[in-house]
Amino acid sequence: MVSCKNQEEKRIECVSVQGPIIVGAGPSGLAVSACLSKNDIPFLVLERSDCIASLWQHRTYDRLKLHLPKQFCELPHLGFPDNFPKYPTKHQFISYMEEYASHFSIKPRFKQAVKSAEYDNVDGFWRVHTQDTQYISKWLIVATGENAEPLIPEIGGFDMFHGRVVHASKYKSGSEFKNQQVLVVGCGNSGMEVSLDLCRHNATSHMVVRNTVHVLPREMFGFSTFGIAMALLKWFPLKLVDKILLLAANITIGNTDRLGLRRPKTGPMELKSVTGKTPVLDVGTLSQIKCGKIKVTEGVKEITRSGAKFIDGQEKEFDSIILATGYKSNVPSWLKGCNFFTKDGMPTTPFPNGWKGDDGLYTVGFTGRGLLGTASDAVKIAQDITNRWKNCPNTIKDCNNGCTSHVILLNKSCLGHFRG
Ligand SMILES: Cc1cc2nc3c(=O)[nH]c(=O)nc-3n(C[C@H](O)[C@H](O)[C@H](O)COP(=O)(O)OP(=O)(O)OC[C@H]3O[C@@H](n4cnc5c(N)ncnc54)[C@H](O)[C@@H]3O)c2cc1C
Repeated sequence: MVSCKNQEEKRIECVSVQGPIIVGAGPSGLAVSACLSKNDIPFLVLERSDCIASLWQHRTYDRLKLHLPKQFCELPHLGFPDNFPKYPTKHQFISYMEEYASHFSIKPRFKQAVKSAEYDNVDGFWRVHTQDTQYISKWLIVATGENAEPLIPEIGGFDMFHGRVVHASKYKSGSEFKNQQVLVVGCGNSGMEVSLDLCRHNATSHMVVRNTVHVLPREMFGFSTFGIAMALLKWFPLKLVDKILLLAANITIGNTDRLGLRRPKTGPMELKSVTGKTPVLDVGTLSQIKCGKIKVTEGVKEITRSGAKFIDGQEKEFDSIILATGYKSNVPSWLKGCNFFTKDGMPTTPFPNGWKGDDGLYTVGFTGRGLLGTASDAVKIAQDITNRWKNCPNTIKDCNNGCTSHVILLNKSCLGHFRG
C-alpha cells in the first residue's frame, strides 16, 4: 500500500485499477459489471452506500412494485426467475439484484462516495477521489443514476410548518400517517402511488397537481400499456401511436381532465421522447379520486404553520406533507473538467448515443428509458471497452508485475509514473 498526501495534507490511499472504475452499484453499475465480467475484463465498482441497489433498498416505499412488466426490466445475461409475477415487488427486485451480483461475482467497494473525478491530460488517466482514497484508471463509467438526489421544490414556509415534512424517498408506508390529513406535493408515479397507499391506511391525501399530466392505465384490455406502445412503435409513427393510446385510455379510464388531471397537448410517447417526462401508469389511484377519497388540488402558494395556502386563495390545515417531487442526477457535483454532462447531470448527447464520451468516459443508465435503456447501454460499453482492452498495450496493467487482482496498490515507481 502507498500512502500519499493530498492538497489538504491528509493521508490517502492510492489505488490503481485494472480495467474501468464504475461509480454506482445500482442496476446500471451491476449490468455493466456483468457484461464486463462475461468478457473477462476486470473492473472496480465504487458505491457510496453500504449495499447494492441502494435506491431500491433504502429509498423506496414498502408497497412498490415495478411499474413495467418484468420482461422490460431484465438486466443482460440473467433474467428474472420464472416464478416471479408479471410486476415483481421491490423485495423480489432486490433479491434478483442480489442474485445477479453474486452470479457474476460483483463485489463493490461500499462506503466509497465519489467526491471528484477528473481526467489527467498529462498522464492519460482518470483520477477518482473518495473520502479516503484516490483511484486511478484509464476508463471511468458513470452509473450514479438519474435519481441520485431528492428534488425539493422551492415553496416558502416549510421551516415553520408544525408537522412532518418528508420526501417520497423517505416514505415507507401509510401506516405512519393513519387518520391524518396529508398534503402530497407532486402527481407523478410516486405521488399517485403514495396517495393510494395513504388512502389504504385511512389517511386523506390531498394531491397537488400543478402541471398537466398524462395518466394511462397500467394495462389495457389485458395487455401492458407500455408493451402495447412498444409494439405499436415498431410499425407506426409516434403521433399515431399517441392517438391510439389516448383513444384506448379514454375508453378504459375515461376523461381524466374531469378529475383535475389535465392532459398535455403533446401525446404521452412524444412528450417522453422530447422531454423525458414519463406518463403515470395508474394502479388504482384514479378510482380513489373518482370516489372522493383522494382529493386533487391546484398549486401551493406557500406553506403555513398549520397547513398550506393555495394559488386559488384557499387555505387548508394538514398534519403532514409528503414531497413526491422527484429526483435529480448528482454528476455535476463530482465530475470535473468535462462538458459531457449538462448542468442537470444528463448526457449532452441524447439516446441512443449518450453512452460514450471522450478520454475513456462512459455513462450507463442516463437514457430516460429506465432499465431497458440501462441494458442497452451496458452491452455497448462492455463491448467498446473489451475492444480497447485487447488493443491496449500501455495500461496500468503494465505496472502489475503479473498480479491478477483488478486492484493494485501502487508501488513507488508506478506512483512516479502516474504523478500521484
Ligand atoms: C420509486 C421508483 C420506481 C421505479 N420503477 C421503475 C420500473 O419499474 N422500471 C424501470 O425501468 N425503472 C424504474 N425506476 C427508475 C429506476 O430508478 C431505475 O430504472 C434504476 O434504479 C436505475 O438504476 P441506476 O443504477 O441507473 O440508478 P440507481 O438505482 O439510482 O443507482 C445508482 C447508485 O449510485 C450510487 N451513487 C450515487 N452517487 C454516488 C457517488 N457520488 N459515489 C458513489 N456512489 C454513488 C447510489 O448510491 C446508487 O446505489 C423507478 C424509480 C423509482 C424512484
